[in-house]
Amino acid sequence: MSDRIYNFSAGPAILPEDVLKEAQNDFFNYKGTGMSVMEMSHRSKTYDGIIKSAEKDVRTLLDIKDDYAVLFLQGGATLQFSMVPLNLMPPVNKADYILTGVWAKKAIKEAKRVGSVSIVGSTESENFARLPKQEELKLDPEASYVHFTSNNTIFGTQYKTEPVVGNVPLVCDASSDIFHKKIDVTKYGLIYAGAQKNIGPSGVVLVIIKKDLLERSSDTLHTYMNYKIHVENDSMYNTPNTFGVYFIGLVCQWLIKNGGLDAMYQKNLDKANILYNYMDASENYFNPAVTNKDDRSLMNVTFRLPSEDLEKEFISQAAAAGFSGIKGHRSVGGIRASIYNAFPIKGVEAFVEFMKNFKAKN
Ligand SMILES: *Cc1c(COP(=O)(O)O)cnc(C)c1O
Repeated sequence: MSDRIYNFSAGPAILPEDVLKEAQNDFFNYKGTGMSVMEMSHRSKTYDGIIKSAEKDVRTLLDIKDDYAVLFLQGGATLQFSMVPLNLMPPVNKADYILTGVWAKKAIKEAKRVGSVSIVGSTESENFARLPKQEELKLDPEASYVHFTSNNTIFGTQYKTEPVVGNVPLVCDASSDIFHKKIDVTKYGLIYAGAQKNIGPSGVVLVIIKKDLLERSSDTLHTYMNYKIHVENDSMYNTPNTFGVYFIGLVCQWLIKNGGLDAMYQKNLDKANILYNYMDASENYFNPAVTNKDDRSLMNVTFRLPSEDLEKEFISQAAAAGFSGIKGHRSVGGIRASIYNAFPIKGVEAFVEFMKNFKAKN
């Protein structure tokens, strides 16, 4: 890496170099059309090909069948905090939420504006240092849906398997781990993911929704807020984030070319293990911030040093050595190394070398 650094940013985050170069190559004149993707009509034949093939590749990667719709919407994951309850809470108007971090809390805030929210599991009293266990969940079999956050970007916890929720539709904010491994989409009613952590630029959000849930979307909803409208219009009710969707398509192609999600998962396991194994062996110098080993995230590795002064020094020396974006979120402190799909294994190895040297010197 001559002119690029090791970018551990939590989001917007590192994207695959091959994809950046391909987009650069296409940027000025997209495949001989004489214009860039950003300059072409979203109703043109060329763009129709781009969005259709992005959808097809999303379906291929996650093996999504026709009973699910795939949407590319705007407003990031944050707008989904509102769209999910507005569309899916009726007619029962009560939903279960699992509170595992800052993003879950924001989702709950919006849901409460729509109907009755029950927090069916929470580790807030432990500052979200682990996930609630299945047996701790107090699920309501009559709830409209159960909402959970698959990867807690800020705290560094991640579900290894979905919570078991019976026949109630499962809704997932997968913004920071979508496509990190294959998941069984049929277990879900709805999955949403803001793109800027693992699949593309910010602003665009991928939504996968089971079509039978569309019955719940009322005609009285504001048009943009209604999933049914977006499904009927193939994500083209209004002008989509054309460049964002194009970019997600390129990232999907990159994943497919590199062996799909099983190969990606193996790489993610290898990367995270290098860091966690070193931490576990470092005799309380680098202390994992997550209290239950099983809950440790493969995407956001959080850890502490023996003192805040050392953490400050660590961050500043790391920056000087070309490791950027490792400062933990203000609500947890410490260090956070975000190692999404596009983060190279050699960057993780170099970082652990840096950690070893830092420990030896301090
Ligand atoms: C980043 C993030 C969000 C917010 O995404 P926006 O695109 O900024 O709305 C929501 N949920 C999770 C889990 C995130 O990591």
